[in-house]
Amino acid sequence: MKFVYDFTEGNKDLKDLLGGKGANLAEMTNLGLPVPPGFTITTEACKVYLDSGEEPTALRDEVSAHLDALEQRMGKKLGQSDDPLLVSVRSGAKFSMPGMMDTVLNIGLSDKSVQGLAKQAGDDRFAWDSYRRLIQMFGKTVLGVDGELFEDALDKAKEAKKVTVDTELDAADLKKLVTRFKKIVKTEAGRDFPQDPREQMDLAIKAVFDSWNGERAKLYRRQERIPHDLGTAVNVCSMVFGNLGPDSGTGVAFTRDPASGHQGVYGDYLQNAQGEDVVAGIRNTVPLAELEQIDKQSYDQLMQIMETLENHYKDLCDIEFTIERGKLWMLQTRVGKRTAGAAFRIATQLVDQGLIDEAEALQRVSGAQLAQLMFPRFDEDAKVAQVGRGIAASPGAAVGKAVFDSYTAVKWSRSGEKVILVRRETNPDDLDGMIAAEGILTSRGGKTSHAAVVARGMGKTCVCGAEELEVDTKRRRMTVPGGHVVEEGDVISIDGSSGKVYLGEVPVVPSPVVEYFEGRMHPGADDADELVEAVHRMMAFADRKRRLRVRANADNAEDALRARRFGAQGIGLCRTEHMFLGDRREMVERLILADTETEREESLKQLLPLQKRDFVELFEAMDGLPVTVRLLDPPLHEFLPDITELSVRVALAESRQEPHENELRLLQAVHRLHEQNPMLGLRGVRLGLVVPGLFTMQVRAIAEAAAERKAAKGDPRAEIMIPLVGTVQELEIVREEADQVIAEVEAATGTRLKLAIGTMIELPRAALTAGQIAEAAQFFSFGTNDLTQTVWGFSRDDVEASFFTAYLEKGIFGVSPFETIDRDGVGSLVKLAAEAGRATRPDLKLGVCGEHGGDPESVHFFHEVGLDYVSCSPFRIPVARLEAGRAAV
Ligand code: PEP
Ligand code: MG
Repeated sequence: MKFVYDFTEGNKDLKDLLGGKGANLAEMTNLGLPVPPGFTITTEACKVYLDSGEEPTALRDEVSAHLDALEQRMGKKLGQSDDPLLVSVRSGAKFSMPGMMDTVLNIGLSDKSVQGLAKQAGDDRFAWDSYRRLIQMFGKTVLGVDGELFEDALDKAKEAKKVTVDTELDAADLKKLVTRFKKIVKTEAGRDFPQDPREQMDLAIKAVFDSWNGERAKLYRRQERIPHDLGTAVNVCSMVFGNLGPDSGTGVAFTRDPASGHQGVYGDYLQNAQGEDVVAGIRNTVPLAELEQIDKQSYDQLMQIMETLENHYKDLCDIEFTIERGKLWMLQTRVGKRTAGAAFRIATQLVDQGLIDEAEALQRVSGAQLAQLMFPRFDEDAKVAQVGRGIAASPGAAVGKAVFDSYTAVKWSRSGEKVILVRRETNPDDLDGMIAAEGILTSRGGKTSHAAVVARGMGKTCVCGAEELEVDTKRRRMTVPGGHVVEEGDVISIDGSSGKVYLGEVPVVPSPVVEYFEGRMHPGADDADELVEAVHRMMAFADRKRRLRVRANADNAEDALRARRFGAQGIGLCRTEHMFLGDRREMVERLILADTETEREESLKQLLPLQKRDFVELFEAMDGLPVTVRLLDPPLHEFLPDITELSVRVALAESRQEPHENELRLLQAVHRLHEQNPMLGLRGVRLGLVVPGLFTMQVRAIAEAAAERKAAKGDPRAEIMIPLVGTVQELEIVREEADQVIAEVEAATGTRLKLAIGTMIELPRAALTAGQIAEAAQFFSFGTNDLTQTVWGFSRDDVEASFFTAYLEKGIFGVSPFETIDRDGVGSLVKLAAEAGRATRPDLKLGVCGEHGGDPESVHFFHEVGLDYVSCSPFRIPVARLEAGRAAV
């Protein structure tokens, strides 16, 4: 196996092997751009080292051969005393992990070669400053010396000279500092700073390998879901210097604005400086455009290179460059990060420029980005003080009074206050408080912390790990940087999309993208901004490409109409139990507890017209589009009085010797129907089979509503869906009854209704016997919520708050299987059932209506296994449309 690649040997597609930085350096080299020569040690070499604790034996020889070649090309040897070749050793993994791993610059300097460098550069100060930087970086990252010690020594040197900035230290000061730094190394690391340049290089390479498993890097990977076994590549690159005087400098540039996507000159430049100076903010940078005045030739060349890179990568690139005595060098490029809004704008701009086609444009955006754009935002122009920043854990903009415990959160929110729950970190005991709060803010923990996971599950705004905030839950306050104290009750605002924390109330503005989907803003109209225009066009690209249809989960006309505006092509799930809440709950309670036939029929008679009205409204809202109505599927307890409350009432009445026959009768009935495991109990089709007349009443309501709509010249397209079926026999019985009712309504109204009857596939047995079930079903809709619950044996109502955090932290899964479909387990049952169902009935319509129907990754899966549609909540419809389009290219 080859472990080392010269920059001339690689290319941009070798990111797995050469890491992002190495692959792009190779690509630029091969484009003929001015890249300082060098070579890349592969991630494979790193993996061997991390697995065995030793570098592969061939590595040393390969490095020697590549170093020889580099020395020949440069005409000088590494660390050569009179004119040293210096190199940088930098990490570079497949995925960018900013600041997480190690870099050492100026390798090759020693007590001898520092003199040679001074002579060659004609600049003593520069040479000694480079040497002290090497000892400092090497001491810290390779030898593990506490970096503060070097910083302290540097501060002391400045104090002694009564100066404030590094640049005011002259060569003699820096020479003294080098001696001091070497002493620190000797004391702290128990060894001398190595004078042998090759030893410096080898140790630095090893340190970069080791940094892959540093705590910071591991945590970052967990949070960003980057696999732990990729390893990092190591780039060894000849040094160029931006700190050789006013004709030198360093900068960063973007080929277009990463915030707006506009083309132009974006970036910063710092004269007479090295890369770290820009990052450290020691001196102020100037806008890149000013480079034109400073060094026109380099500026023009840079502009030309930026154009080359954009045309080559066909995307926004970001760039690091250095100018050494008037000569421009490219140190790094990559396809640049961008905001969600810029992603949409850039994709359409590139289509207009003819650089990419519509299919490629769809790959440049994601449903997650679209979802981000649909949250209400804080008004960016509002003058409110930002006091901290944490991890953007769950998007949204939340404003409320700070409270520091869940009890207060619940209490205050009950009395109508909006609160933000602030904790150091949350645990399952905080659940009530999290539910009550507008948003959650923690000072510890990352994207997979309890707060983050639970908040995302609840769709609640969350900022976590805002470490600058000192949260003192005992004293109910937090201290923000600068010392200001936020007391319980003070208003704060948190932005779950950016992680920013503000003092006071930031005004919230609706998302322009939602305004567009709602039809309140039109692309092409005067007020339409570029973002809306871009989203509009990307949705059109997606709609043209996609095969999957997108329906909505909606139970009332209002949601249905919104879903329609958002592009829904029907309703995939109308949960009729939602129609029985509020004052209708009692009617259902009476129905379930009915002792006599007459009582039951009474309740059914009351319910029928109400149900029918609901359906008429729904069919009208969705006129011309399919509406799948699911017959009642509540776990029974949801419709029964609380057993404890009722027991107390009965006991109280008894002790007071008050009449309580009705309560007692009710209690006995509730006892009779009480279940330990209601989710696995009397629900769905089971309820329909044991409560006579319930399902037929619903079917009658649907049929009569459809007939009424037809009479009104509407085009109702109802489909009747039976929930929680485990065997075809259940379905057959219900169907027989339903067919009869439909026939009766058809006869009575003289209308032909063509109502399809199908079933949900949400139990493992249903999936496994789908071939039989399809005999009695005209369509399947996968209920992946219950299917996930029953395949994993996880209670869907409890797990997110109990052990999922631990599971996520241990990496058992990267994301909750209730959020993204578990392809291997639940997914393979879906695939099997789809195939078996279609084998029985080739025209079987297949859809999914579990939460997964609106999850980007899951939409791709449903496309792959050949479903006809996904159904999701109205707000998720644009995301599902976009992802269905992306899945099809
Ligand atoms: C499901 O189980 O996936 C489903 C859509 O039904 P519900 O969530 O109502 O149980
Ligand atoms: Mg279900």
